[in-house]
Amino acid sequence: LYPCCCFLEAQTLLLLHSSGWCVWFGRRTRSLWDRFIVEVCVWFQGSRFCEWEFPAAVILLELLVECTIPKDDGTLASFVGFRVQHDNARGPMKGGIRFHHEVGAHLSLSLSLQNSLLCSVIWQSGTSFRSMIATVSVCVGTMLLLCITSGVLNKVDPDEVNALAQLMTWKTAVANIPYGGAKGGIGCSPGELTITELERLTRVFTQKIHDLIGIHTDVPAPDMGTNPQTMAWILDEYSKFHGYSPAVVTGKPVDLGGSLGRDAATGRGVLFATEALLADHGKSIKDHRFVIQGFGNVGSWAAQLISDAGGKVVAVSDVSGAIKNPKGIDIEKLLKHSVENHGIRGFNGGESINPGSLLTEDCDVLIPAALGGVINRENANDIRAKFIIEAANHPTDPEADEILSKKGVVILPDIYANSGGVTVSYFEWVQNIQGFMWDEDKVNAELKTYMTRSFKDMKEMCRTHECDLRMGAFTLGVNRVARATILRGWEA
Ligand code: GLU
Repeated sequence: LYPCCCFLEAQTLLLLHSSGWCVWFGRRTRSLWDRFIVEVCVWFQGSRFCEWEFPAAVILLELLVECTIPKDDGTLASFVGFRVQHDNARGPMKGGIRFHHEVGAHLSLSLSLQNSLLCSVIWQSGTSFRSMIATVSVCVGTMLLLCITSGVLNKVDPDEVNALAQLMTWKTAVANIPYGGAKGGIGCSPGELTITELERLTRVFTQKIHDLIGIHTDVPAPDMGTNPQTMAWILDEYSKFHGYSPAVVTGKPVDLGGSLGRDAATGRGVLFATEALLADHGKSIKDHRFVIQGFGNVGSWAAQLISDAGGKVVAVSDVSGAIKNPKGIDIEKLLKHSVENHGIRGFNGGESINPGSLLTEDCDVLIPAALGGVINRENANDIRAKFIIEAANHPTDPEADEILSKKGVVILPDIYANSGGVTVSYFEWVQNIQGFMWDEDKVNAELKTYMTRSFKDMKEMCRTHECDLRMGAFTLGVNRVARATILRGWEA
């Protein structure tokens, strides 16, 4: 069951059908996306993996907004924001908001071109009518030329956010928390914006989506490029329209009703998931060597907790570089170095290596905790790990998945492995609604219970249907969503 990953990484898509392994290839387009949603449902209806009749109706709402802000130097800048709501059969939709230059990249490019033109027209508006017309004509001409030469007009494609929203639906269902799935973001490079520009951008985005989100409708959270401060701005802006409502976002600062343990939750979930998988193979973290790609929030917490649990982290990378030390890296020292130097580059507790070769370093467990699509046809054959824990969203593409399973590599899928973050988001939402704060030990203990239970549920699916862990996880998630959908009924 791989269609969502295909959507993310390939220009072709592949659909599985109830009649067997019926495969569809085609270019990604809006209509194909809609078709995909329907086809997946049709496939599940009557398929050996689905115990339920599942009519072909899935909610999919996609909102695109233009966010124009004044920059600190007085010029105007324009960005495209998204919120995609995929499904709410099991509860309010839930998912992160990412600030990244690749979020709807093609669309952002086309719209920011138009917006920068608009901005320049606004600038010119104080001058004469003739010079304004001249500016408009030059700008429109340039825009058309750019669009045609770069093919932008043909590449308007927000499907990436759609696919991520869909992954959230299955993820919350696998974790068995009462949520659906959503995702959003803004196409921007947060590192190139000042803190005041980021605040303005977040507030403008919130002004545009405040009617769409809500405690019982859609609850955003941090994702790539966003953090508790971003959530605080969203909460503040949302509260101007709807009154103070801390449960409208999760991943907030603790002082504003955030949960203790939320910051470490995805990394801690990765630890619990790894422990469950290794225990299932009669092994433990202690006698294993780990390679971790990514040293951001997820990767650094996972590295720290794994090394505290006795695992040996032998190689790590981040955007600044990669290091290895077969004797085991001192993670505490590396964390300190990384904070002081804005990255792991230059750390003297290991040998510097090419980040491109990190994934193929000798180890027992590989943890991709950065971007999607990093394990692919080019490197899958050279991967030496016996276990892969998908701490990032969709790090393994379908071709690599096939190569790796033929080699006997066990892959713990993203929709289970990185569900610790959204699970503690759920605890945060519950605490906000209860108006009562849990201590950190309770948060961590509950997280362990949820992660262990969903591992068992996923394994049970694998046993029943004789499938691998990824198929087991999707089957578990889709069945839970289907069950809720059917129970809620179809009466208009
Ligand atoms: N962005 C995280 C994820 O992809 C967390 C989402 C949430 O807490 O709602 O799972």
